[in-house]
Amino acid sequence: MLALQGDVREHLAVLSSLGADARTVRTPADARGIEALVLPGGESTTMSLLLGSSGLGTEIEKMVADGLPMLGTCAGMILLATEVLDGRSDQVSFGAIDVSVRRNGFGRQVRSFETDIDVKFLDRPMHAVFIRAPLVERTGERVEVLAEVDLPGSYGARYPVVCAEANVIVSSFHPELAGDSRLHELLLSKVEGD
Ligand code: GLN
Repeated sequence: MLALQGDVREHLAVLSSLGADARTVRTPADARGIEALVLPGGESTTMSLLLGSSGLGTEIEKMVADGLPMLGTCAGMILLATEVLDGRSDQVSFGAIDVSVRRNGFGRQVRSFETDIDVKFLDRPMHAVFIRAPLVERTGERVEVLAEVDLPGSYGARYPVVCAEANVIVSSFHPELAGDSRLHELLLSKVEGD
């Protein structure tokens, strides 16, 4: 669990409820031996700075290259994306999943909202809390879109809000704030030998 900034506690609670041996990662030493990584929501620009100063950015680059299972929610999705639109020039993006995301892309009027969404493979809808969420504007060929929403005020245009590519899962909303553990379960199912 990347714990430089953001809603770390809620993710830890969900992971522990699933029986995972979850721990916080703040330094390269903390990252030794982990089998999966969750990148929380928060502020991707602040996390970018802390990733540099802590030395964790380099560690995560190696984890991405090794194909470590990862789940990124909201700001975490921004960090894992290939391309960040409206980002700061010093913003980190690990390119772990081939999507282009626009920071705060849901627009001013609808900066934060909640809705129930259908997610592929799940039998019940998921309650999704969007807080100044990133908007996925492009997905690469290998990316599977697991859920979409109508962008409020966009006359029916639909945008991906849960995507996966190989071992990486991202959501533009906060499943952990609704206490929904199903994306975390999907992450844990990708851990080798599980
Ligand atoms: N807008 C934030 C960012 O750009 C993300 C918001 C969130 O994680 N809830 O990092």
